[in-house]
Amino acid sequence: MSVIDIDVRGEDSGEYYPSTRRGYANPAKCTNLDDFINTIQHENVHLILDQEFGTTAEQDHWALNIIEWSEEYLNGEKKL
Ligand SMILES: [Zn+2]
Repeated sequence: MSVIDIDVRGEDSGEYYPSTRRGYANPAKCTNLDDFINTIQHENVHLILDQEFGTTAEQDHWALNIIEWSEEYLNGEKKL
């Protein structure tokens, strides 16, 4: 079950709080619908990785970067 709230608050488009394992996505801070959906997905990735592996936000962002640029890593255009 997702616990990413849709809420108009804060300065960012979204945030995840490991201490409560909850996050929010703020449509008022997103540039368009794609940005809003991507924010929800981003905060959900934080939740899932935290719940399943106990990762930190920094580790999550590292993993997300690898996934986002996976084709370039596989082609050798980027190096780890
Ligand atoms: Zn993040």
